Amino acid sequence: MQHHSNKPGSDPRVHLKTSKHQACPECFRSKETCICGKVKSFATHLRVIILQHPQEQYKLLNSARLANQILENSKVLVGLSWPNFKGVAGENEQPSNWGILYLKSGGPQSSKPCRVFGRNKKPLDDTSFLRGIVALDGSWKQAKTLWWRNPWFLKLNRITLNPAHPSLRGQTKQEGLSTIEAIALALNCLGEQKAVSSYMFEQYEQLIIRSV
Ligand SMILES: [Zn+2]
Repeated sequence: MQHHSNKPGSDPRVHLKTSKHQACPECFRSKETCICGKVKSFATHLRVIILQHPQEQYKLLNSARLANQILENSKVLVGLSWPNFKGVAGENEQPSNWGILYLKSGGPQSSKPCRVFGRNKKPLDDTSFLRGIVALDGSWKQAKTLWWRNPWFLKLNRITLNPAHPSLRGQTKQEGLSTIEAIALALNCLGEQKAVSSYMFEQYEQLIIRSV
């Protein structure tokens, strides 16, 4: 089973929130910690769609908006359910050409940093057909809710991550990766330029981790 991100021993700052009336309308952070205009952006080949559980939006350690500002080809949708894949990704997209980040734990560790599994659950070697990835932004429990409410997730390929290092957020479990870390790892392993993922890690540490 996966581990809840609020387990004892995990970073206590995960619960801190920006008060709604003080939040920047773009990044949902306070004036002092606003990240807008502070980062470079990169055009990746893969599109990135972040589906954010509404309870995550104002969390100070949340990294979805930062990922969104760094990745030109990305968007954040806040909600609990979306009727179908095309409503989220666009009419011309096919779920079979997309992957969803699937954070699992337990079982033997793979030596590969990430693996992509097709709908038939078989691992895929060639992932060059992928056009985009979907990442769920929320605790394990919130992500489970999103899976439950959006059965179309099952139509996407699954991307599992096996990070070499624990999260910068101070969690030891690999499934405790923040959203931006998970996206960076996935992009890196799916062939995007390393400069993009290293920049994402770097800015996450500077603008989010150190601001709390
Ligand atoms: Zn802002």
